[in-house]
Amino acid sequence: MLSVVSNSLVLIGCIILLASLAVVRKITLQLSAGRSCKSWCAMSGLIVLFVVGYLSYIAIFWDQQTAMVDLIVPGIFFFGACFVWFSTYIALQTTLDVMRISDLEHETLTDPLTGVYNRRFMEQRLAEEISKARRYCFQLSILLFDLDHFKRVNDEHGHQAGDRMLIEICNLVNDQLRDSDILSRYGGEEFLVIAPNTGPAEAALLAERLRARIEANVFLKDHEESTAQGLPITISIGIASFDDDNDNDETLIGNADRNLYQAKHEGRNRVVGGHDAATNAGITGIATRAS
Ligand code: GH3
Ligand code: MG
Ligand code: MG
Repeated sequence: MLSVVSNSLVLIGCIILLASLAVVRKITLQLSAGRSCKSWCAMSGLIVLFVVGYLSYIAIFWDQQTAMVDLIVPGIFFFGACFVWFSTYIALQTTLDVMRISDLEHETLTDPLTGVYNRRFMEQRLAEEISKARRYCFQLSILLFDLDHFKRVNDEHGHQAGDRMLIEICNLVNDQLRDSDILSRYGGEEFLVIAPNTGPAEAALLAERLRARIEANVFLKDHEESTAQGLPITISIGIASFDDDNDNDETLIGNADRNLYQAKHEGRNRVVGGHDAATNAGITGIATRAS
């Protein structure tokens, strides 16, 4: 009788350990390959070793239990397995909670249509980048751009085509930016790029590259509405760079906005702002704002 109880305790412990293995597998599926994923794989290996140990115990001490005291070790095995299962279960719940929180955080900081950062995130980051620029004497520029005659796209080809175009523009712009640059949707069809460690000349070069790239691109190539397929679009860009006169977010954005307005006023599809060096380098399409 005692050996039946002992063997049952250890065997149920084994089953519980196997259930823990399934929980660990769920955790590793949630995590992208990384250090913690490797740790959980090591944990699976340890659990397998435990299972082998439990089975060996059953094989060695199959019917050797003669007193109640002989149930202590099988009892420890059983509760040990329960402990492992409970720990892995809590770890799975915590992993799911953390991922849910990070998804929610991502949602509150990004634009649902284009997937780029939203204005709220941009304002936080700009304030951070300005204080870094001020403290460590880093350069910093922002590029505010607006699609030219975008209303026509909506009016002539429908709102869906307009939405698709906004997504394609964001993908295209993101491809041209450095990892440290931040693209955000400022509002409607206006976008703002924060370019840390970028002076006015470099910002003008970047802006011109974006402008030319978008002008040369054919959008909505495989759009379901054939009338909307292969549409061109252009953008106008206003640049402002951090300096003694532009040392806070309000003046920086205000100046970029004024430069954007000037670019629109001068005929669109152009860059206003940035440094003379860019125009001197022979880049066409850049008008430098007289200050
Ligand atoms: P301009 O060159 O002066 O900027 O002309 P525009 O037609 O681009 O400017 P306007 O401000 O008159 O129109 C902007 C349009 O952008 C109007 C609005 O319906 C459209 N728009 C804003 N947000 C979205 C969006 O999320 N999706 C779509 N499809 N259109 C949008
Ligand atoms: Mg526009
Ligand atoms: Mg606009």
